[in-house]
Amino acid sequence: QSEGVAQFELFPVIDSTNSELMRRIQSGQLPDSGTVVVSESQTAGRGRRGRQWQSPFGSNLYFSYYWLLDDGLQAAMGVSIAVGLAVYDALKALYQIDVQLKWPNDILVHEQKLAGVLVELDGQPDGPCHLVIGIGLNLNMPVTASANIDQAWTDLALLGCEVDKSKLVAVLTHCLEQRLKQYRQSGLDEMHQQWNQVHAFQGQRVNLITGLRSWQGICEGIDPQGGIKIRQNGEVKSYFGGEISLRKV
Ligand code: ATP
Repeated sequence: QSEGVAQFELFPVIDSTNSELMRRIQSGQLPDSGTVVVSESQTAGRGRRGRQWQSPFGSNLYFSYYWLLDDGLQAAMGVSIAVGLAVYDALKALYQIDVQLKWPNDILVHEQKLAGVLVELDGQPDGPCHLVIGIGLNLNMPVTASANIDQAWTDLALLGCEVDKSKLVAVLTHCLEQRLKQYRQSGLDEMHQQWNQVHAFQGQRVNLITGLRSWQGICEGIDPQGGIKIRQNGEVKSYFGGEISLRKV
């Protein structure tokens, strides 16, 4: 199956670009693989586990891409790693800025969050898997919205980049398709090493936080399945899944 953009859809306002695609999937009105939804604002932009993504009108990019993967949920696990690299590729190509990636889904510059990735899935363990790949990228955040962000953030204007939004969407989509193609062919075989080279916390002590507890370890990058490798008491263990957050100590 080949990648390729079926269509771009632009909304002035929407609850969430991910929700728009997910609704179509769940109602059986499947979009063509490669459909892109972009909105000028979101009234219910989401991060992981129901956290809010600040999505004021006109000033940022809210982007979702529909992708059909035949190999089931297991194969979808590492997709947000590939997507992070796609965002890295696009920002490097367009603005020559060096971003760093934080596991599992954040794009940082100087330890400040520039963009977030939210991959949502619908599928059976062995059947086709519908993926909605969301990317929120800050272009020029109004002060009113930034007051609601409870962690260090940045945007492309603050980084001195002049943004042509249509060009950004085109390049981002292209980079995403390249990385998804690579992912379909060889998973994270090569990509996990590339990711580790731009890993924000490589070799650093981090707090691992779940809903129930928090503990510390040294972050040793990701493994070929996309799990984060943590050294603790001389042993290295990989962690997966959506329940763990990393914070620098
Ligand atoms: P994790 O490390 O588990 O991913 P996270 O705090 O980065 O934790 P996400 O779900 O990735 O969580 O993103 C949501 C969080 O990002 C919000 O709780 C808020 O702190 C921050 N945030 C919200 N909107 C923006 C934005 N437009 N730009 C940067 N950061 C934002």
